[in-house]
Amino acid sequence: MRLFCLIIIAISLLVSGTFGLLTFKIDSEVSRLEDEKAAITERNDTYSADILALQESIDIISSEKAELEEKLVYERKMASYKVEPTVFLTFDDGTSSNTHKILDILNAAGVKGTFFVVGSQVVNNGSVAREAVKRIVDEGHTLAIHCYNHTYAEIYKSKEAYFADFDKVVALLEEITGTSPNIVRLPSGTYSAKLFCKQYSGTTDTYYEIVSELYARGYEVIDWNIDTEDFTTATGVAKIISNAISGAKTRLTREYKTAVILMHDTVDTYKALPEIISQLKAIQTSDGKIFRFEMLENGGYVSRQVAEITKPE
Ligand SMILES: [Zn+2]
Repeated sequence: MRLFCLIIIAISLLVSGTFGLLTFKIDSEVSRLEDEKAAITERNDTYSADILALQESIDIISSEKAELEEKLVYERKMASYKVEPTVFLTFDDGTSSNTHKILDILNAAGVKGTFFVVGSQVVNNGSVAREAVKRIVDEGHTLAIHCYNHTYAEIYKSKEAYFADFDKVVALLEEITGTSPNIVRLPSGTYSAKLFCKQYSGTTDTYYEIVSELYARGYEVIDWNIDTEDFTTATGVAKIISNAISGAKTRLTREYKTAVILMHDTVDTYKALPEIISQLKAIQTSDGKIFRFEMLENGGYVSRQVAEITKPE
């Protein structure tokens, strides 16, 4: 009996010793694994931060790439104007029933035009003029802003006066077409506008304020480089044609072979227009190039003028 008790005690000691040892082993294994888990978690956090930083770099580089590609397209387009003769037919001071004739001629010839509209003309000429504004947009030409009232003493007396007039024509064109033009031609052009600002506001600063506000609002300003002198009936159809054609030929000798032809919404203009287009199409450079016809667009050739008309630094 005594022996039996001793055996039981010995077995108990052995079992509990072994069990204790086992428990200790398991505990230390658990703690080792937990340490390892903590280390992995720490590494994982570092990797996640690295991945995030890399993704940010990728995003920045991608947007820089997109910007550069856009710039490249623009530079290529600008460079093309030095090589490819390009004509922009522009029509100021409409719209009226004459605009319909001009649109018919352009469409028949398969070329696009740019129309710098005067708001008061549209209103005074009634539904035929409103319809012409709609046609300009619907038929894929450029609708652009000239002014509401073509009165130099009024619009150039202050920046506020200019924009009161400007906002009126913008609202009118938006109401008629549902779209908002983004190109502007100042009444009488930038050179004379500066002189008128001096005359009516007392300082050329008014001109610079107007132009920089236009750019700040996202508009681009464009003049012309060929004047057909069609603003007066004294010029006559034949002279309008020869002014356009000789002007275009002269432009072929310039750095930018671009002919921005100034015309107006007149009867003589639409009478001269078919001949102007057909003669322009027939002009060939010594290296066999012919004029391509484009309309003015924001971000296109128009944007070149900014350096010439904004205040020097
Ligand atoms: Zn005008």
